[in-house]
Amino acid sequence: MLAEDADLHFWDRVRNLFDSLIGRNDEALTALQSIAREFGIEILEILTDTQSKSGNVTHSNTKAFQFQTACELLISELSIYSTSVIKVSKLKRIELGSNLRVHGSEAAGAFNAIDGVIYFSTQPLHDLNYGRRAFHHELFHCIDYIDDFWKYLDPDWHRLNASDFSYSSTKYKNKQLTVVHRLGFMTNYSMTEVREDKAELYAYMIVHYDAVMAASEQDVILGKKIVRMKELLAHLSKDYDDNFWLQRSRSSTPLPQRDETITSFKIWGEQISSGETWFLASLGSSKPPVAFRSPDQLLKCIEELGAIDFGEMNKLVVGKNLHIKIRVANSVLTKFGLR
Ligand SMILES: [Zn+2]
Repeated sequence: MLAEDADLHFWDRVRNLFDSLIGRNDEALTALQSIAREFGIEILEILTDTQSKSGNVTHSNTKAFQFQTACELLISELSIYSTSVIKVSKLKRIELGSNLRVHGSEAAGAFNAIDGVIYFSTQPLHDLNYGRRAFHHELFHCIDYIDDFWKYLDPDWHRLNASDFSYSSTKYKNKQLTVVHRLGFMTNYSMTEVREDKAELYAYMIVHYDAVMAASEQDVILGKKIVRMKELLAHLSKDYDDNFWLQRSRSSTPLPQRDETITSFKIWGEQISSGETWFLASLGSSKPPVAFRSPDQLLKCIEELGAIDFGEMNKLVVGKNLHIKIRVANSVLTKFGLR
């Protein structure tokens, strides 16, 4: 999971100042170690610049304030689980450090499923929900890896997506802060790989259960993924039962409201007296279709709406209708007179 916040360094400076003022308090670490013992896991504080065995992961010593926040966060997030669930995940150790990098790129969390290690970054915790999701995301990778012989392979999951969708690291990485246009996904990072899709959905279900369920009311693909996720987990441990999800609902944290709408569009071209003309209509809106003089103009608009990744766009021909359903920023709908 990659860090998403550009303000990180500013907050780091603020926290560092706190650190120098308040000094170190090991109460939270002691409490975390005690809960970790019950789960049979070890907590390791990174004290010097450290590189994982494989060399892929590096991290450094963490500041006192950040370390304390991270310990408190982990205490409450681990408490969500029963010991049997943590056993199932084969998690053995959580390493707490700052400046976490995976293959050189900044990250909020990382894991090594073979050794059962989660590397947890203490840095981006000024957004606690982000830190919480990062932990559950990595924990899910551990669960996902050990759940069967096929490890991350899950062709059934792939089939839950729209037929024209394919996962792509190059297209969807580092777009965490932009609108998630595709239905079936909570984040753009989910679109990079099946295993990231599952880990992101899991993390959102753990932290923002009610928001995910509400989103699935208008998003059939997401609804199917939630059902599949619950099945996978129930198969793994009887503790992922209805009561577990009821608890998640009761503790659900709201997501910030985004100014976006799921919109269905009809796109078509016509040969009229003035020449080839292209139209785009927002279905369910009283606004008339918008006309374009060339396919290029139309594509530019479609690109801004966020639908450029859709396979159907290659099939634009005069006389044929295309339908797409995407999540769009309301400001863009207004800009094109589609709202
Ligand atoms: Zn991941």
